[in-house]
Amino acid sequence: MSPKDLTPENVRAVVSEVIAEMTRSGELRNLAQREASEGYSAVVEVSALHGVFQNMEEAIDAAERAQRDLMDLTLVQRNHLIAELRRVSLAHKTDFARRELAETGMGRLSHKIAKFDLLMRVAPGTEVLTTQAFSGDRGLTIEERAPFGVIGAITPSTHAVPTLVNNAICMIAAGNSVVFNAHPATRKIFAHAISIYNRAIIDAGGPPNLMTCVENPTLETGKVLFSHPKIRLLVVTGGPVVVAEAFKAPKKAICAGPGNPPVVVDETADIARAAESIIEGGGFDNNIICIGEKEILVVDSVADALKREMVARGCVELNLNQIERLSKEAFQFKEGVGCGSPILNRDLVGRNASVLAERIGLKIDDDVPLLIGETPFDHLFVHEEQMMPFIPIVRCRDARQAIDLAFEAEHGYGHTAVIHSTNIENMSRMARLMNTTLFIKNGPSLAGLGGGGEGYGSFTIASPTGEGITTALTFTRQRRCTLVDYFRIV
Ligand code: NAD
Repeated sequence: MSPKDLTPENVRAVVSEVIAEMTRSGELRNLAQREASEGYSAVVEVSALHGVFQNMEEAIDAAERAQRDLMDLTLVQRNHLIAELRRVSLAHKTDFARRELAETGMGRLSHKIAKFDLLMRVAPGTEVLTTQAFSGDRGLTIEERAPFGVIGAITPSTHAVPTLVNNAICMIAAGNSVVFNAHPATRKIFAHAISIYNRAIIDAGGPPNLMTCVENPTLETGKVLFSHPKIRLLVVTGGPVVVAEAFKAPKKAICAGPGNPPVVVDETADIARAAESIIEGGGFDNNIICIGEKEILVVDSVADALKREMVARGCVELNLNQIERLSKEAFQFKEGVGCGSPILNRDLVGRNASVLAERIGLKIDDDVPLLIGETPFDHLFVHEEQMMPFIPIVRCRDARQAIDLAFEAEHGYGHTAVIHSTNIENMSRMARLMNTTLFIKNGPSLAGLGGGGEGYGSFTIASPTGEGITTALTFTRQRRCTLVDYFRIV
């Protein structure tokens, strides 16, 4: 290489190659072990480069090499890498949460930490990849789950690192590598976390660059993933615009799109429990998570009781005049007030209730979990995915009307819906009508992901494309292997 070839890109490519070679030969692991025992720091010096690239082509090429190397590892080794991702997530959860909160300004620290605790408990690894066998007089056929190869993943601003590690665990467990395009508003924490996770994988004997990203993600770098021939599968976690883009891509896309989860409270519900659950789910991380309760449809006869119970648990009720003022702060319009489609004011998304209150001249405590208030059904706060800690309450004549309006408010996203009721007819009717991926009865929305309910969980919930709560199985292809006439053993 002549001096004029010493461009940053070339140097980076050479360093990546050297790291890959050292990993293949086991040299990097030895170096890391020496580092641990002797306080030696050579590996630390290169760690800033782990998985973070200047351009998308490099990030994709590196992930492609990593995926080939991953396939050379045994399942025991693959499991070990997944265990490391879990261990590192828990070890760094406070640091990751702090940095993400500082960079985006969205959510609450304790909830951001809790997301890692939940995820590491509920997101399964390779154990969901089972083999199916068919045996008979004509021999034995097995079906196994194979990786796609290199996956291109788009992540949201609302939980960058939880989505990163959730996707990484599932995708790597399935034998894939992954190239991420993070939301630009999370680029620093994303690169930081990718670097730490890759470093942990290398130290555990895995290949470098199993997950990669670009240092400066943009819509353009994201679009490279959409059309790049080496990207075999797209996984998109985000709002309606990026999901619509993914549908246009010339390859398979798994899309985890927006939600606007309604919660119905009927006259048979345990009202105190309903109030507590709505605060737990809708107040979680200041209501930025896609499954969080976004509007309450309550039967008139128990509406006052529900509000009382919510206020008794720290919520602050706004009157209609205050809600109108908050609405003007929360939504902007493309073509003058009142026309065009509303655009969310990002300065209020995920902020504490006290910040929202301040915008309308109210001083409240920082730990108020939610603002609530009655609105008509056709209010913007009912129909838009507000992702902030104000939840509108709509009074309904009876349970039938509440369920019908919940269906309308969800807009067919098929994402999440919640009911508080002890009437089996109402629960059953709503479950059928809503047709949502998650349907939660008598608990917070989080229960649908294993947070206070049973079952596994994920932060990539693919409703538009139908895969549901994603696991390693979601990111595999089916392969069949047939042996004719032999190996039936009975
Ligand atoms: P967003 O749609 O603004 O951004 C999501 C990602 O898409 C970002 O990385 C962004 O850079 C990218 N993007 C946006 N437009 C694009 C385009 N035209 N081409 C290529 N990439 C594009 O969403 P957000 O505000 O960051 O996140 C919140 C949204 O994500 C909400 O709608 C929420 O419901 C949804 N979400 C869904 C799930 C789920 O599991 N279903 C999980 C988390 C978030």
